[in-house]
Amino acid sequence: MAKGFAPKLKDSENIWAFIEGTEKPDEILVISAHYDHVGTKNGEVYNGADDDGSGTVALLEIAQAFMQAKKEGYGPKRSILFLHVTGEEHGLHGSRFYSENPLFPLKNTVADINIDMIGRRDTLHPDTNNYVYVIGSDRLSSELHSINEEVNAKYTNLTLDYKYNDRNDPERIYYRSDHYNFAKKGVPAIFFFNGVHADYHMSSDTPDKIEYDALAKRAQLAFVLAWELANRSEKNCS
Ligand SMILES: [Zn+2]
Repeated sequence: MAKGFAPKLKDSENIWAFIEGTEKPDEILVISAHYDHVGTKNGEVYNGADDDGSGTVALLEIAQAFMQAKKEGYGPKRSILFLHVTGEEHGLHGSRFYSENPLFPLKNTVADINIDMIGRRDTLHPDTNNYVYVIGSDRLSSELHSINEEVNAKYTNLTLDYKYNDRNDPERIYYRSDHYNFAKKGVPAIFFFNGVHADYHMSSDTPDKIEYDALAKRAQLAFVLAWELANRSEKNCS
């Protein structure tokens, strides 16, 4: 998740994969996670295991699950774009570029499911990792919000925490990850996030501190939500 903005940019690329829908190929669901982190500082490698290795591996696992389903005859009805964006940490640049140069028209993009930091717990949840912050789902769509609640109740039973969805929240998380560039263009967007912790943007954000059970469960929620959005009869999240 982004902390600040850098004026100078190097060249970089977004990376995408695509599964074409079987019935409504022109309608696109985007699932996004950023793959950049902050590099090195004073000779120290900033690993970025939670921010956002957790999101990138979740995106790969979700893509693999959809491909497996397709091989078994259950390909998604709508198309799914798996989008690893770059340049998030210094200003959401990769997702902004995508939103200004989309591969598929944004008017046909049904939603963006964005995943950034889902492998840890924050200081507000010392006793459990069975939660996820949900941000943005009710801003442009009432359906996206309720569909997420329904699939969670049915499949994953995570506590959905809306603290950072409060429009007056001083952390302004809604504006600090890649879903925002979709929302800005009118695409309904939902952001899954575990909150910040002592290793946020430190070299100590390492894989041994990932809570893999929580990572898997939050990725499963993103998957079942994506499955529902890609296969439901109604078109858009209105
Ligand atoms: Zn970050």
